[in-house]
Amino acid sequence: MFTVTPVRAFADNYIWVLRQDTGALAVDPGDAAPLIAYLQHNRLALQGILLTHHHADHTGGIAELLRLWPQATVYGPAGIPGVNEPVMDGSRFHWKGAQFEVMAVPGHTLDHLAYLAEGKLFCGDTLFGAGCGRVFEGTPAMMRDSLAKIAALPDTTRFFPAHEYTLSNLRFALAVEPDNEEILLRQTVDQKQRAMELPTLPTELGLEKTTNPFLRCHVDSVKKSAEAKAGHALADETEVFTVLREWKNHFA
Ligand code: ZN
Ligand code: FE
Repeated sequence: MFTVTPVRAFADNYIWVLRQDTGALAVDPGDAAPLIAYLQHNRLALQGILLTHHHADHTGGIAELLRLWPQATVYGPAGIPGVNEPVMDGSRFHWKGAQFEVMAVPGHTLDHLAYLAEGKLFCGDTLFGAGCGRVFEGTPAMMRDSLAKIAALPDTTRFFPAHEYTLSNLRFALAVEPDNEEILLRQTVDQKQRAMELPTLPTELGLEKTTNPFLRCHVDSVKKSAEAKAGHALADETEVFTVLREWKNHFA
């Protein structure tokens, strides 16, 4: 069993640090400095890095970290500089008795991966608290399929996204479903967390299913809201998702 701690980077990134004994794995170290400070303060050796996708805010720290810990295994999509253990959908590996399973979740980028271990999913910029990543390289249908894959995991699965976007996502969720009391309740809880400068993450799949509009494209109120926004009827969940994603892109 490993423990997981967030290390803050940039304005709103989290570098999740998995610890077991004196060893650590870091997920998406976009910036080396705060991670090095954390590892040194806690006398931890960096044994590995898990990369979800190629964006600089997730990979920028690799070179410097490898200078300090040259023996670290860098798991990630093939093609990212520094990756010395390329993985893909279905890949498995072990770290100190914990088994990791890799899932391909394209949409935000084409190379996007998520890592599942001990009921925890390190999902990068695919799923956020009450939201999902922007579709940069894939198509909305691709992103929606990736989210459906994630949503098929057990409801107790805990998600560790790479950004603190929950409060702004909840404002959007309320615009989509103004009468959803679960969203209002979550907003109250998460506003308190942020007021104390604490993370709103990790989150749980069960909570996302009741409050995240992007996992609720099949729900009547969400569909109606998307249809009102589009100005016409929507045929299926992918169309609902596409309208929601576009709406959120311009939502302030
Ligand atoms: Zn990204
Ligand atoms: Fe990012």
